[in-house]
Amino acid sequence: MRKLSSQNIVIATHNKGKLEEFVELLEPYGVLAQSAGGLGLSEPAETETTFRGNAKIKALSAMQASGMIAIADDSGLCVDALNGAPGVYTADWAGPTRDWSMAMRLVEERLQAAGATLPAQRKAQFMCTLCVMWPDGETRFYEGVAPGQLVWPPRGTLGHGYDPAFVPDGQDLTFAEMTHEAKNKISHRAKALEQLLADLF
Ligand code: IMP
Repeated sequence: MRKLSSQNIVIATHNKGKLEEFVELLEPYGVLAQSAGGLGLSEPAETETTFRGNAKIKALSAMQASGMIAIADDSGLCVDALNGAPGVYTADWAGPTRDWSMAMRLVEERLQAAGATLPAQRKAQFMCTLCVMWPDGETRFYEGVAPGQLVWPPRGTLGHGYDPAFVPDGQDLTFAEMTHEAKNKISHRAKALEQLLADLF
């Protein structure tokens, strides 16, 4: 079974929030990962229609540009009452300026339009697919899901993206009201990474 050496790993993301979580989650394993953004690598267009497809695009791009082992994350929010939207288009709903307040409002408007006002009608999942790619092209995927529900108005100032509008199952706080440690125990990214670490370390 191929294992990861703790050297020469690039995290194929330009997203500051995701990167912070990766650094915190990988720290106990002695992994000193660099980010694609930090290395000045360009950000590829996410042209696939699945998390897996887009994670692979990002891993391939970062691996080829850096010559390093790449770990890419493609993630998003899938809302039951919106037939899984915004899904792979979660970042796009924030527009070119990445306005997350606007994106959360857009989701809320769509939920209201769908008549989804009761908690049971506002179920959603954060999904995360990780893709690891070695310089010789070997590729592996890992997936994590965080089920929960959407709340309005958004609450909390920690975290990133849609965190203020999402309360994970079994919790009262939104992801943005929780400490990083608390979110990192139950998040979709943490669950996917847990599998990656079990497999590769
Ligand atoms: P992408 O993976 O670059 O397509 O971006 C996925 C988008 O989903 C991010 O830009 C965030 O807006 C959102 N997202 C993914 N994971 C999280 C999370 O842990 N909290 C909040 N938003 C997230």
